[in-house]
Amino acid sequence: MRYAETGFNLEIDLSRGGIERVATDPRDTELYLGGLGTNTKILWDRVPPEVEPFSPDNLLIFSTGLLVGTPATGANRTIVSTISPQTLFMAYSMMGGFFAPELKYAGYDKVIIRGKSPDLVYLWINNDKVEIRDASHLAGKGAVETAELIQQELKEPKAQVAAIGLAGENRVYMASIEHGRSSASRLGIGAVMGDKGLKAIAVRGTNDVNIARPAEFMELCNEVLEYIPVRDQNPVPGVMPILAGLGSPKEMTVHDEKWHTENFMWGNSRVRRKGYWNEEVEKKWTESMENVRTRLISCYNCPMKCGAIISVPGVSTYMMKCFSKLTYTMAAFSDLDFGFRIAQRATEYGVDGFSTPQVMAFALELYEAGILTDQNMAGMPSDNEGRFYWLLDRIVRREGIGDVLANGTHWAAQQIGKGAEEYAHNNIKKHEQLPLKLSMLNPIYFLMYCTGEKANITQIEGNFPQAPFLTREEREEFVKDWIQVPDEKFKEYVLNWEPRGENSMPYYPTIEATCEIVDWQEKMHYIDDAVGMCAGLSSFPLKPPYHIHNYPAFISSATGIDMDEAGLTHVTKRNRTLLRAVNVRRGLRRADERPPEDHWKKRFPELEAQLLDAYYKFKGWNNEGIPTKESLQELDLDYVSEDFLQQGILTDNEGTLSKEASA
Ligand code: SF4
Repeated sequence: MRYAETGFNLEIDLSRGGIERVATDPRDTELYLGGLGTNTKILWDRVPPEVEPFSPDNLLIFSTGLLVGTPATGANRTIVSTISPQTLFMAYSMMGGFFAPELKYAGYDKVIIRGKSPDLVYLWINNDKVEIRDASHLAGKGAVETAELIQQELKEPKAQVAAIGLAGENRVYMASIEHGRSSASRLGIGAVMGDKGLKAIAVRGTNDVNIARPAEFMELCNEVLEYIPVRDQNPVPGVMPILAGLGSPKEMTVHDEKWHTENFMWGNSRVRRKGYWNEEVEKKWTESMENVRTRLISCYNCPMKCGAIISVPGVSTYMMKCFSKLTYTMAAFSDLDFGFRIAQRATEYGVDGFSTPQVMAFALELYEAGILTDQNMAGMPSDNEGRFYWLLDRIVRREGIGDVLANGTHWAAQQIGKGAEEYAHNNIKKHEQLPLKLSMLNPIYFLMYCTGEKANITQIEGNFPQAPFLTREEREEFVKDWIQVPDEKFKEYVLNWEPRGENSMPYYPTIEATCEIVDWQEKMHYIDDAVGMCAGLSSFPLKPPYHIHNYPAFISSATGIDMDEAGLTHVTKRNRTLLRAVNVRRGLRRADERPPEDHWKKRFPELEAQLLDAYYKFKGWNNEGIPTKESLQELDLDYVSEDFLQQGILTDNEGTLSKEASA
């Protein structure tokens, strides 16, 4: 019997209409856990580097995590992996909500989609009955509307639906996959879904998930459930509101936006508005929030209520979570009301709320600079809000200039030319980043920005404080109950980290300490992404309920696999290295690992080079960021090193095997 997982994947060939239930190898679970780990192995094995994002041979994988569907609170993530049209590297975007647990209860760990359907279709998974159904009547429908129509058509209100809107159908690079209670937004995975002619997946499952040692597992779950309210009622003092508690930034409950509005940049990541937040703005924004937020909602099996049902007069209700509350508002230099209004349309179109507002503000900057002309913008209204609606409509339809902008700022700038590249200034690996510009280089964030392959800063930051506490007393208070640290030395790093002087940024934390901190944060994310845990209860907040000391017991008692901290660390390192290998095989090199030039005002090129050198070494990568043969062997990834030697990615000097011996 398989525990925690079902032991079956669903393979769908949309070109031939093939549907197959395929047993998986339990050894892969031991090596890679599940979720992102096994997704990466499948992409390594089955999607060679020459396969383009919009090729029928690209795979689109919807995966549950290993603990999804168990009683572990917050284990509800769907990990969607494919090759991104925007970065041309592996994308792995995640959504919470209810989709993944339902899929596991239907009897599948993953749905693996290949090929392309000639006509628009949707997939209906009803336990072991699986059908590819016509979706031509859903063409052009909104993502949320599609889910409702499918539930009605199937007469199955409990079906969980993941759908694309018009943006996905038109292969817009910012297209998301929406699921009513969450969305997988980053890196253009919705465009790949649209390219495959797949409008939606609906799933209903009523089977059980087995647990290897249920009594032990339930005890651990109860400990987490007891800890969450205690932690929630004791917010961390001295940090910004969204970092004080637990959960995936609980933006829907936060009314104090001083930090975001004054530190994040407005427009196309251009202008910092110091002193913006005053009493009048606070009052107006609080009223706006309270007028539209009808109910706070949670994902499956979680008490945290990070999302909200938003109801704006005159438009359909929708779900909002996280920072998208501010992205449209700040891109348009507008107010919160506007953000809530346009986000409804954007959700139905199915676009990423981080990238899309930046693309629109980028277009307006180009227009103001005379790089885009009246001819390009013919028909655009003169008022600011009207321009944003107009641009959004053009982009999702790929009409006129919208066809160029639909490729994101990096590719659009290249197509437009005439100096437009200078305006695509907030990208890493060709992908729009958070519009954050700060003063002093933060060495921890520098490394995370450069090397993180999730390409989404909000999802790689983690358990270590983002900035030093102001006083020694605050630091001592913070570390005294910090049980989540993998090693006591991390407490020392916090205690010694000061806002000014010798032990301040950019030279403190030291290079060595910075590598250890970044590695720890990244490790926690890779565990979450393999087991399907919400980062909001584990890798993202300070002092979360899940950490390196209790995760091994969770995994062991759920799956029956013997796992201790060293073993889990090893598996995680394997998963992280394999993901890097997928991208290295697709051309990722050191030159790609750069934060936006103006992300910090004060830059230190020599220190930055040293940080990257040291981190690569720490990870077992060579100076180009390529895992070495030795480190690959230690992680049982010999098949990767053989491939690298054959491709000439690793040379004889770097590997111990010669090309001849390898051959
Ligand atoms: S912490 Fe928030 S985002 Fe995470 S599972 Fe719970 S409700 Fe969802």
